[in-house]
Amino acid sequence: MSLQDISDRISKAERNAGRKSGEVKLIAVSKVQPDGRVKAVLDQGHRCFGENRVQEAEAKWPDFKQHFDGIELHLIGPLQSNKARTAMALFDVIHTLDRPKLAATLARIAQEQGSCPEMFIQVNTGEEEQKAGVLPADADQFIQDALALDLPVKGLMCIPPAHEEAALHFALLAKIASRNGLAGLSMGMSSDFEKAIALGATHVRVGSAIFGDRVPG
Ligand SMILES: *Cc1c(COP(=O)(O)O)cnc(C)c1O
Repeated sequence: MSLQDISDRISKAERNAGRKSGEVKLIAVSKVQPDGRVKAVLDQGHRCFGENRVQEAEAKWPDFKQHFDGIELHLIGPLQSNKARTAMALFDVIHTLDRPKLAATLARIAQEQGSCPEMFIQVNTGEEEQKAGVLPADADQFIQDALALDLPVKGLMCIPPAHEEAALHFALLAKIASRNGLAGLSMGMSSDFEKAIALGATHVRVGSAIFGDRVPG
């Protein structure tokens, strides 16, 4: 696969779903990928990337940002409150707002600085013990609380359980977003992004299908 192949598949999925062309944003997930592979994708003109660890992104992206204009970074992994300030400086969008304490910390820093990355709230649609995210039953309240803190919440994000039908989780996420007036849906990865687009994804997070298998670090 290549960046072009994935872009073509996204366009086709948009068409098949009767959606506007270019409506879905492709986040190229570059976590754990060697710099050479990331640079190759930057050289092809792509500018939107996802990382799941603040520390790794901090080590990698300031340098790329010096050499390439218009880079947009998305945090798609868990965020600890003590890394909130660093994350807010580095990332344009945070997809993993998932608990009241983090919301309070982000809101306080946002007020101090007069700016804030856009936010997605992660929902643990599969109610998995080991996974981050608010439970579906708590989502409505958490979304309204985050909005009341003036956080720029744009949508919801989920990572479906590995061995369940992803479409059920995408549909649940879309339903929760819709009843809360949120337009953004961050869902779909290498193995299921077309399905996610059919169910309304606005942001797909695709790693290995673009870059190749992650090199274990
Ligand atoms: C790694 C990761 C992805 C990308 O996974 P692929 O299967 O390589 O496309 C997407 N979302 C999150 C939250 C991830 O951690």
